Amino acid sequence: MKVLVIGGIAGGPSFATRLRRINEDANIILFERGSQISVASCALPYYLGGVIKDRSAVIERTPEILKQKNNIDVRIFNEVTAIHPDTKSVDVKNLRTGETYSEDYDDLLIATGASPTVPNIKGLEDADNAFVLRSMDSADKIKHFLDTQHPKHVTILGAGSIGIETAEAFVRNGIDVTIVEQSAHVAAPFDPEITDIVAEELHKHGVHVILNQSFTEVQYHGHQVVLSDGSSHPTDMLFIGTGVKPNSEIAAAAGITLSDDNHIIIDHHLQTNLPDVYAIGDVVETTSLITGLPTPSLLSSAANRQGHLLADMLSGNPFETEYKGFIGAGVSKFFDLTASYVGYTEQSLKQLGITNYQTVFITPFDHAYFYPNADRVNLKLIYENKTGKILGGQAVGRNGIDKRIGQLSAAITGNLTAFDLPQLEIPYSPPYSATRDVLNIAGYIAINQQTNQYETVKVSDIPADDLTSATFLDIKEPGKSTTGSITPTLNIPLSQLRDRITEIPKDKKVYITFRKGIGPYNASTILAGKGYQVAMITE
Ligand SMILES: Cc1cc2nc3c(=O)[nH]c(=O)nc-3n(C[C@H](O)[C@H](O)[C@H](O)COP(=O)(O)OP(=O)(O)OC[C@H]3O[C@@H](n4cnc5c(N)ncnc54)[C@H](O)[C@@H]3O)c2cc1C
Repeated sequence: MKVLVIGGIAGGPSFATRLRRINEDANIILFERGSQISVASCALPYYLGGVIKDRSAVIERTPEILKQKNNIDVRIFNEVTAIHPDTKSVDVKNLRTGETYSEDYDDLLIATGASPTVPNIKGLEDADNAFVLRSMDSADKIKHFLDTQHPKHVTILGAGSIGIETAEAFVRNGIDVTIVEQSAHVAAPFDPEITDIVAEELHKHGVHVILNQSFTEVQYHGHQVVLSDGSSHPTDMLFIGTGVKPNSEIAAAAGITLSDDNHIIIDHHLQTNLPDVYAIGDVVETTSLITGLPTPSLLSSAANRQGHLLADMLSGNPFETEYKGFIGAGVSKFFDLTASYVGYTEQSLKQLGITNYQTVFITPFDHAYFYPNADRVNLKLIYENKTGKILGGQAVGRNGIDKRIGQLSAAITGNLTAFDLPQLEIPYSPPYSATRDVLNIAGYIAINQQTNQYETVKVSDIPADDLTSATFLDIKEPGKSTTGSITPTLNIPLSQLRDRITEIPKDKKVYITFRKGIGPYNASTILAGKGYQVAMITE
């Protein structure tokens, strides 16, 4: 069995090493056009920020180790330039010597990943201070620039997770950072309930954020950017974090079917439309485990697990017979906050035309409030109306964020519904959680929503008539400040609500204005129990 692997960072080495462990006789050759294999790409911002000091720690395996430990023939600086399905062979160019040669295969894996997109901006090609981050080589270039040029200011285009993680690295280097983002929010793919909190964190750490703007021109060899509103901003350095595009050119030329956005389409056996040709990782389009709809799978954990699974499937492992689909579970450190997501956001559902869903937004403490350092978990759950099928979840906060989203991801994998969440038995002790923990509460609220005890509504969904005629009740206690974006029409502290309930007109709908915690929920149940039509604003 001769197996060729194209791509040596995440998916490729994961596949090759697993295959070796179950097949000692296979001839495995791995081609990588870059200078390194098995780079922990996700760690690069932490290396640049000085959190990880040792460069070699970011390179998990070298070609020599893969040869010595796993008997894999690793060829760095070797680029596969063509795939010939008719002869089951590939053309390869040795980038150091210029030599070209062919290699035949029984099975071929394409794990060529993705490359950063660089928008076509006038003057950007003349900038000698503009960088992207994807590989160790790109990280080395940034590090060299920081160490030799000592920039005082950097302008980042794109406020996605790589833009923000790299912003933190620059701040740790003492550099003043401005992020320019074309949309109205930072931290895509999160929804606004989460991104507003991330934006505050950026502000707190001195990062300037300019929303709804892009670069229209780069001037003076990268030392000034012009934005869509015509304003000019001097800078010492540019960083482009505007997303990635799949490396699928050689696949397309070989007749492999691609999606509209150039990802390789694979089936549940991770196979392309060509016999014995497989693909995994950032280069593929697979299907969503949640909706069955096509989706790219742009995450390191997905690439690694797909590689392991493919080796097992090719070896006939009876427990690993197909790839069930991609959920999409990510987590990012944004300064002192953790933000994590699983599945679909509300924005992505809207883009797909899916509207039959409900959202729950809760802000309970991450552990018992009476134990020191309790902090809020701001969690949004999205589920399908009536069935309770979990479509996605997002959370942001300081403690226990990835734990809750990990639990939700496991619930999705196990096909649990939002109505099953109250039954999740979550380990409890005051330093760690609450007796009814975050996902239990989210499940209770989903059930309440479906049994119509009270409504939950976002400010943007309040009917225009209600904005002028309804009662907007603030339940803040004396001395506390009003929260949320709606100006209340009435304030009755929750502790006095039962005694003063007659002050609230019964012929008008009552909206409980937004507050963190369980207070609005308690107020809603009191009012609903007395026959009021009540809705709780979740902002
Ligand atoms: C800064 C940063 C932070 C990230 N953080 C996270 C995170 O926290 N969590 C997470 O899950 N994901 C994260 N990611 C994404 C993650 O790195 C990718 O999902 C993952 O690396 C994809 O693995 P892959 O094997 O599919 O492709 P890649 O890692 O892109 O590797 C593909 C390799 O194939 C090589 N190649 C391409 N074409 C050829 C060819 N023709 N011949 C030979 N070689 C070729 C390329 O040079 C490349 O080295 C991050 C990415 C970056 C850049």
